Amino acid sequence: MTIPAAARRIAILGVHLESNAFAPVTREADFRSLCYLEGDAIMAEARKPAPALPAEVAAFVGEMDRLGPWTPVPILVTGAEPGGPIDGRFFSSLLADIRARLLAARPLHGVYISNHGGMTSTEGEDPDGVMFEAVRQLVGVRVPIVSTLDLHANISERMADNADVLLAYRTNPHVDQRERGAEAAGVLTELMDGAKSFTAFIRLPLTPASVTLLTAAGPYAELIARGQALKTQEIIAVSVVGGFVFSDTRKNGLAIVVSARDGLASARRVALELARQAWRDRQRYLKRLTPIEDAVRLAVEAGRNGEKPAIIFSDSGDNPGGGGGGNTAELLEALYWAEAKRVLLGVFIDPPLAAQAHKAGAGARFEAVFNRASTDRFARRFKAPAKVLALHDGKCIGRRGLWAGQALDLGPSAALDLGGITVVVGSRRKQAADPIFFEMMGLDIAAARTVVVKSRGHFRAGFDEFFGPEQVYEVDTAGLTSPNLDRVPFKGLPRPVFPLDPDTRWREPVFR
Ligand SMILES: [Zn+2]
Repeated sequence: MTIPAAARRIAILGVHLESNAFAPVTREADFRSLCYLEGDAIMAEARKPAPALPAEVAAFVGEMDRLGPWTPVPILVTGAEPGGPIDGRFFSSLLADIRARLLAARPLHGVYISNHGGMTSTEGEDPDGVMFEAVRQLVGVRVPIVSTLDLHANISERMADNADVLLAYRTNPHVDQRERGAEAAGVLTELMDGAKSFTAFIRLPLTPASVTLLTAAGPYAELIARGQALKTQEIIAVSVVGGFVFSDTRKNGLAIVVSARDGLASARRVALELARQAWRDRQRYLKRLTPIEDAVRLAVEAGRNGEKPAIIFSDSGDNPGGGGGGNTAELLEALYWAEAKRVLLGVFIDPPLAAQAHKAGAGARFEAVFNRASTDRFARRFKAPAKVLALHDGKCIGRRGLWAGQALDLGPSAALDLGGITVVVGSRRKQAADPIFFEMMGLDIAAARTVVVKSRGHFRAGFDEFFGPEQVYEVDTAGLTSPNLDRVPFKGLPRPVFPLDPDTRWREPVFR
């Protein structure tokens, strides 16, 4: 018996966290201060013009609205900036809350889960899987569960087993969050209409650094494109997640999830073909970064010679979007002492420094001490005379790239002129993926000769108006997100694993 569409009760829930095993624990306050919505507040936020919640949730709601009448059952949607494992006690209470809300909301006819998929907890390495299983136990096997995931998800068997269809982003930078949210609405509707889904899952002993997982070109771009090309009538979805190596768990590794309408055989055929391609290409998931000395020389030259193209540096080791503090001064200091000119650098996360600038006032001169209060081994103190160029409360709307149209908040912020280098200082961790963080301070990106962003790759979709791919340099800086994986003290990855263990072998799964 099918339920009339308008009477279909569809639960919406999500817990977004990308966990870096080496970063400080992510606590309840980190979720509450970024996004924590319960019940009807989810719907109200999702339908705002510039919502402050994961874009795929807003898109899911929008597409369900477009498809016809339905009954949303908003449960709980929360997310924190990428950081350390979630505090286990908080996760337990969150899960208990989700369970209670789902129980009270029954009957349910479908469930949409919007998770990142790369979360770990202080008490276990697969809270995403625990959550999926809990939801499945509550709703039973007949109610379809569809989930969207980040391209950096570390998918566990438990997640794959307990969802009907997993839909991962297919772009890096992630500019298809809305498309995947809308696709989830379509897939969930098809399943509620009676379609079946059979899912094949393969994980490879391959943990690439994220700088090799771009989707404009390269092995990963080709793999994702191949996956979509293999989508026949029988295939519902093909997801190829690159994973997030810094989670440092046994469930790490590039993974392929394929769902088919007609049975497991079709899903397995496609998954295996993609897994073979990924493994064949493994040597291509290696990339040479630009040494700091070379970067400094390039910046000095760019400042002196206006004929040369302007350049942009990724401070790749310190990306707040991967759990980095956004507060290492290594590259800033090197550029400062080399007297590089016409440099813009941001966003440097330092709440005491931002507060000091606000207290001093616009136009004031003072001695800026970066990392005055830091105990972080990567975030060393650095002092320089500075002038306050501009002050801002940090609230803005994303202009371009993965956060376009989303409400953002950097907290109290300031632009400081260090003489040749202008630094945007913020108070809340956020990667510099959107040019708005410079523009809201009145800074002219087009006039800069060198721009330095604390972002690993998402800045590409925001700054592409100013810099083509050939003007981008990924600088080999130290920090919690160094793509130079040999430097990272991994403990939990499945070993052997490529590229850490160059001789790693993969044995193909035997499907019976
Ligand atoms: Zn991601």
